[in-house]
Amino acid sequence: MKHRNQVFDNVLDLIGKTPLIKLNKIVSNFKGNFYAKVECFNPGHSSKDRIALHIIEQAEKQGILKPGDTIIETTSGNTGFSIAMVSIIKGYQCILAVSSKSSPDKIDMLKTMGAKVYVCPAHVAAEDPRSYYEVAKRLHQETKGSIYINQYFNELNIDAHYKSTGPEIWKQTEGKITHLVACSGTGGTISGTAKYLKEQNPNIKVIGVDAFGSVIKKYHETREFDEKEIYPYRIEGLGKNLIPTATNFDLIDEFVKVTDEESAHTARELASTEGMFVGYTSGAAMQAIKQLDEQGEFKATDNVVVIFPDHGSRYMSKVFSDKWMQEQGFFDSVNEASAQKIQY
Ligand code: PMP
Repeated sequence: MKHRNQVFDNVLDLIGKTPLIKLNKIVSNFKGNFYAKVECFNPGHSSKDRIALHIIEQAEKQGILKPGDTIIETTSGNTGFSIAMVSIIKGYQCILAVSSKSSPDKIDMLKTMGAKVYVCPAHVAAEDPRSYYEVAKRLHQETKGSIYINQYFNELNIDAHYKSTGPEIWKQTEGKITHLVACSGTGGTISGTAKYLKEQNPNIKVIGVDAFGSVIKKYHETREFDEKEIYPYRIEGLGKNLIPTATNFDLIDEFVKVTDEESAHTARELASTEGMFVGYTSGAAMQAIKQLDEQGEFKATDNVVVIFPDHGSRYMSKVFSDKWMQEQGFFDSVNEASAQKIQY
């Protein structure tokens, strides 16, 4: 942990060294000890601060980025916020190509953080020149002195977690970690953290969390891209409809799939039991632990670390809105007795 009485030069000094916090009530009937790596303690409120800072600093070291240059990415989510934050402090322009599906709140937030935001139509193919992938690529080609972060296909995404998240968890658990449970989107978090941890102890079991509607789990099992696995789902940041090279599938022992509905209820439960107001994918990761516990995965002596990627405030109009939960039909399956117990 950083010393709370220390004075920092700027917000970037606070990236990383996030706390590992024991889970208590939510796991009271489970076998094993459970610890959450709570990434919303980063100054940009998510694990993406780590990759934004690392990728930008590597480009600086290689002489690719000079003051006033431009950083480009396709994201309206956490990565966009982190890149915008790092750009402000380091004096770069930040251009983000986002989908028209992105909520106005998110777009306003990125603009507030100084980013130039291009809103691109959501329902066009990735190859369409209007898609946010193509717009970002074009802007990168047209803008002299620019870098394209390209987090799904950038090895430095893995490297950021290999150099920071992995060593932090090893140190915080004094080498006693037995399982790592983490969501996989780009796969950078789980792959980089797993690489470091398995180098220390190859017996550590690494379990990825995937969404129903994503191809990742099936690809891990078969190494084949199965289009039939792909259908729309609600959780943002988890799973994918393509295979990112920022995922090292050989380092992951197995994947668990979770539903939108159970993950949403579990995210709310983390707030009401542990006082942890964390995001939708944190609920998904915790939901995976519940399923693994039911399957008898853990022993009483195990030390399980789960990564909670971001803060709950980014989901106020979704998971933490009763209206949204109702509209999704997520309250229908909660019977009266448990609804009273949960008390939303
Ligand atoms: N949770 C959230 C909220 C995210 O934005 C992401 C990143 N897409 C992840 C989890 C997964 O992290 P990674 O991309 O490193 O696999």
